[in-house]
Amino acid sequence: MIRNAHYLDESKREAWTRYLLGEIREKRLVSLYVEPASACNLACRFCDFHFRAHEVGFAKRKRLMSMSMFENVVQQVRELPFRFSSIHFYLHGEPLLHPRLAEMISMARRLNLADFYKILTNGTLLDPSRFVLLVESGATSITVSLDTMDGERYSKFKGKDLLPLVMQNIAYAIHATKNHKDFELIIKCTRSHDIYGLQQDEVEEIVSYFSDAAAESSNIHVEIRDEFSWAGSDRQDVAPRTRPCELPFYQLVISCEGVVSACCNDINYGLEIGRLSPGGDTLNSIAHGERLQRLRRLVLARDFDSLAICKYCSFTGISDLFDHTCEIADLI
Ligand code: SF4
Repeated sequence: MIRNAHYLDESKREAWTRYLLGEIREKRLVSLYVEPASACNLACRFCDFHFRAHEVGFAKRKRLMSMSMFENVVQQVRELPFRFSSIHFYLHGEPLLHPRLAEMISMARRLNLADFYKILTNGTLLDPSRFVLLVESGATSITVSLDTMDGERYSKFKGKDLLPLVMQNIAYAIHATKNHKDFELIIKCTRSHDIYGLQQDEVEEIVSYFSDAAAESSNIHVEIRDEFSWAGSDRQDVAPRTRPCELPFYQLVISCEGVVSACCNDINYGLEIGRLSPGGDTLNSIAHGERLQRLRRLVLARDFDSLAICKYCSFTGISDLFDHTCEIADLI
C-alpha cells in the first residue's frame, strides 16, 4: 500500500481524534519511544540532530542505552496503570548500532508491554541476518528511511555513499516480508517543503519503484511523510507556529541516558519532563506529573513564546487539536 502519513482522509482523522480524546480522558498515553542509540552512522541534512550537531550537543550524546537502563525502563513500564499501544525502539540515533536491540525487543514482547514494537532505521545495517533476528525477536514493523534513489543526492543528503547497500538490504527485506503474517515493512520517503533542499521528484521515483511490491503484499508499504523544521528550529523562513501540537498528549520519550520528554522531535530535550534515576522520578510520576501538565497547558494556549522549542517547529500530526482545546483543557 502507498500511504501518506499526514494526509489521512477525514474519517480516519476523526477516528484518531476521538481515540486520542478518549485516551486523554482516561489519563493514558499511547506511544513510548525508547532510544537504543543516540549515535548515528549517517549525517542527513534534513535531520537537525546532525544539521545543527554542535548546538544540540550531538557529539557529546553519541551513546548506547545500557541494558541496566533498559531493564529499569521495562520495570517502570510494568508499574504504569495503563498499557502503551506501541513501543518505538528508535529516537534520534540509528537503533541498529545497538548490538542488543533484538534482546530489548524480545524482552518487551515477552512481557507483553504493548501491542506494537516498531523500529525505524536508515537501513545501512539491516543486512539479511539482522533483519531475520529483529523480526524473530518480535518487531512488528521496520521502517526504512530511504528518501532518495539517486546515488549522488543520497551521498549529498546523507553524508555517505551507501545507497547500493541500503537497496540490497531493502530487496531482501521485501522478499522476506512478502508472506509474513505479523510483520510490516515500510519504506519511508519525505515530501519536500523546500526546507532542507530535498527535491520534489524524489517521492514519485520511490513510489513508482516500490509500487509493485506494495501492491503484491499487504505487509509492504511505501509511506510518504512531510518534511518539517524540527523542534528548537530558529529558521526565520518558517512561519511561527499557530496551532496546538498533539504529541505531548500521547507520547513519552526516553533518551538513552534516561531523560524523559513529551515529544519525539525534541532533539535537545528542551521539553524535558523528568529523568529516570535511582531514587528519582518514576515513569508513573512523570506521566502524571505537573511538568507534563504545564507543557500541555502551554501547547493548548498556543503560548509558543513561552515554548521556544515549539515556536518554529512545523510538525503537523494527524489531529488538529485547535477545535478541541476547551474540551482537553477540562480533561487534563
Ligand atoms: S510543536 Fe514540535 S517541538 Fe513542540 S511538541 Fe510538537 S513536535 Fe514537539
